[in-house]
Amino acid sequence: MTERRKILVTSALPYANGSLHLGHMVEYLQTDIWVRFQKLRGQDCIYVCASDAHGTPIMLTAEKERTTPEELIARMGDEFQQDFAEFLVEFDNFYTTHSAENRELVEGMYRTLTEGGHISKRVIRQAYDEDRGMFLPDRYVKGQCPNPNCGALDQYGDSCEVCGSTYSPGDLIDPVSVLSGTRPVERESEHFFFRLDNFADMLKTWVNAGRLHPSVVNKLEEWFDVGLQDWDISRDAPYFGFEIPGEQDKYFYVWLDAPVGYMASFQHLCARRGDLNFDQYWNPDSKAEVYHFIGKDIIYFHSLFWPAVLHGSGYRTPTAVYAHGFLTVNGQKMSKARGTFIKARTYLDHLKPEYLRYYYAARLGPSIEDIDLNLDDFASRVNSDLVGKVVNIASRCAGFLSKGFEGMLAGELDPGGPQTEFVARSERIAQCYEDREFAKAMREIMALADLANRYIDDKKPWQLTKQEGNEQDVQRICTTGLNLFRVLMVYLKPVLPAMTKDAESFLNTTPLSWEDIHTPLLSHKIERFKPLASRIDPAQTAAIVAASQEDLEAKDTGNPSEKTAALEEIDLEDFAKVDLRVARIVKVSPVEGADKLLQLTVDLGGEKRQVFAGIKSAYAPEELEGKLTVVVANLKPRKMRFGLSEGMILAAGPGGKEIFIVEPGQGAKPGMRVK
Ligand SMILES: [Zn+2]
Repeated sequence: MTERRKILVTSALPYANGSLHLGHMVEYLQTDIWVRFQKLRGQDCIYVCASDAHGTPIMLTAEKERTTPEELIARMGDEFQQDFAEFLVEFDNFYTTHSAENRELVEGMYRTLTEGGHISKRVIRQAYDEDRGMFLPDRYVKGQCPNPNCGALDQYGDSCEVCGSTYSPGDLIDPVSVLSGTRPVERESEHFFFRLDNFADMLKTWVNAGRLHPSVVNKLEEWFDVGLQDWDISRDAPYFGFEIPGEQDKYFYVWLDAPVGYMASFQHLCARRGDLNFDQYWNPDSKAEVYHFIGKDIIYFHSLFWPAVLHGSGYRTPTAVYAHGFLTVNGQKMSKARGTFIKARTYLDHLKPEYLRYYYAARLGPSIEDIDLNLDDFASRVNSDLVGKVVNIASRCAGFLSKGFEGMLAGELDPGGPQTEFVARSERIAQCYEDREFAKAMREIMALADLANRYIDDKKPWQLTKQEGNEQDVQRICTTGLNLFRVLMVYLKPVLPAMTKDAESFLNTTPLSWEDIHTPLLSHKIERFKPLASRIDPAQTAAIVAASQEDLEAKDTGNPSEKTAALEEIDLEDFAKVDLRVARIVKVSPVEGADKLLQLTVDLGGEKRQVFAGIKSAYAPEELEGKLTVVVANLKPRKMRFGLSEGMILAAGPGGKEIFIVEPGQGAKPGMRVK
């Protein structure tokens, strides 16, 4: 027998700031299937994960929920583990990046990198919220797009969603902090940088050593061509993370300590298990295999930064990084409005996890192509493959054996049956699993299931039992059918662990291993057959969609105190400073070169004003003309690229089609003050 491989596998760490959804589950199910396959084949395979617990978003969410980051991440960690367990994702260890092990590893790596001359310091300018007393990540600054051909309002500080241009927050016109609503200032701060370019040669060799899918290598080549940029690995206080040793108010950026969390989780496991040795897996000369399963959005981090950081700090690099594509539902991006943004929990409330495990397996390959969950196809595929083909084999044979033979299998197989062929496919199917060609593996397995059903169709045991003297034949045929079923369950065990367990009880055997296909079950008593899977009713998938929509509505009408907590209380005097007036919209025209803006002429009771409003996505000009609305009349006029804006229309809503202007009740007249 060949030596057992030592394999360490990770999935990307879920960020402890929101619940898992079916998009996340692609990766965890893909990884879990691969790991279960390795274990089934007798390899020494360890699967670790953790919740990714640091960073500004977690700090702010905790603040908003009036709790501590520690409490938030503990709660999210519990929720993750509950969801994973019910989806039958079986980690050897699930931990958190906010751990003593992780801190120690990160500090040690940072020290080695510094000594090796791989860390530099320089002063950068960054948006700063004076009101909140903190530096703002790009996504926390919003304003008008600086592209003179665009000018879209309400865009993030790093890129414009309307025209796609990228810039820095300081370039925005009228930038505001999304935290306080105040205008950010620019402040200087010293940051620490990882000098990625020091590793350019090492990385080029590493990337081209067959560790990555060709499409990923192409992507990386583009990045090499542009040149490897230094990576900013520090953040200023306030921040939730690990402080940089020897510095004041400086923290490691969450992205530095997150992948180290893979190692920390493994170390945490090693402390509990005497048979595992951390160094054996992470020393530069390690013979163990290390694989990271990730989404295609974090290739840069895992294929450039991470191997360079590992190499620079004296550890081995990953054997391979396996990236997958995103999930679409019914052919489109997951959408809250369409009810296709489905949380892991919502799915579990309605359907068995193995249906999704099977469907994802049937769609997954080794490339970074997106995979689609078409809900109709999902139901019909599960019904026809799992219920109609696989389980059907067992249910067709079991009855004859329990009725006529007290559940006893024959002493030999039908030599004319396809058992040999089933066993002969084993290495081909194993290779598909190994190469993450799960869709191919499922096709191979279902072709065998068809073969088994055809065998039973041909032999017609239900006809044979009608005539006396055929008993032995019937027993042998059904024994052959059940042994074919048993081989299929071995092949499907990585995908369907719970169903296989039920099948093991039915067959009255110990847990099946891959090797068991070579020794058929003969002269062996089986248990009474119970249905192993039931059909999906389209009403069930419809209920999932409906529940996902309700989820959204519940959120929208959520606790108002929570939603308004972002803004400070003000005095009546503060409010009195705002001059709100009823105004009639008299003329509306589109603005040349601006996708979102309308130019409005409003009448404030004798006085006409020109106002620009970013409401074009929700209103046609003719809809607005003649309407009464409310205008902030004493807003300082703003010079925009298209002209002067002398006020502001009041409107509500998240944007897009959902913008609603404020309209006063009947009888209000232009010029009236709103108090
Ligand atoms: Zn733009």
